[in-house]
Amino acid sequence: MKKSEYTFSYEVYDSIDDLTEEDAWLLNEAREVTEHAYAPYSHFQVGAVAKMMNGEIVAGSNQENASFPVGLCAERVLLASASSLYPKMPIESIAVSYQSDNVESDHPITPCGICRQTLQEFENRVGHPVRLILGGMQGKVFVIPQASALLPLAFTSEELK
Ligand SMILES: [Zn+2]
Repeated sequence: MKKSEYTFSYEVYDSIDDLTEEDAWLLNEAREVTEHAYAPYSHFQVGAVAKMMNGEIVAGSNQENASFPVGLCAERVLLASASSLYPKMPIESIAVSYQSDNVESDHPITPCGICRQTLQEFENRVGHPVRLILGGMQGKVFVIPQASALLPLAFTSEELK
C-alpha cells in the first residue's frame, strides 16, 4: 500500500482592490451580470464572465425554471455560449460573482460539482487551463489557476476510449 496525496494552491486576496486591473475589471463584469440571472426559485443570482484567448468577452448567468433542479448554472451557460460562439477557443479566465436575497455576498463561491466536471472537460477539450477569479460583491477573492484542480481524480473522456 502506498499513500498518495493531492494538493493544489490558489491565491486569496483581501478584496477586489488587490487584484490586477484586468482581473478586477472581469470580476466587476461578473458582478454586473448577476443582474441578468433568472433565479426566481433559489433567489441566488450568479454571474460569470470569461475572457477568451482571442480577447472576446463572454457572459453567462444562472437560468432556472419551474422544474427547479434542471436549471442551468452561470458557469455552464457561459461555457455553452463560449463553445457555440468560438468553437475550440481556450478561455484565459472566468470571473464568477453572485448576489442573493437570502445571504450576504461577502465571500467567494466555488463552482458546483456538475460545473467542475464541465470545466474539466472544457480544459481537456481545448488543451488549456481555465483560470478562475471568484468573489462576492465584497470581501475576499480567490484566484484558482486551473479549474480542473477542483476536481481531483476526475472521470474523464479518456476512460471511454
Ligand atoms: Zn454549477
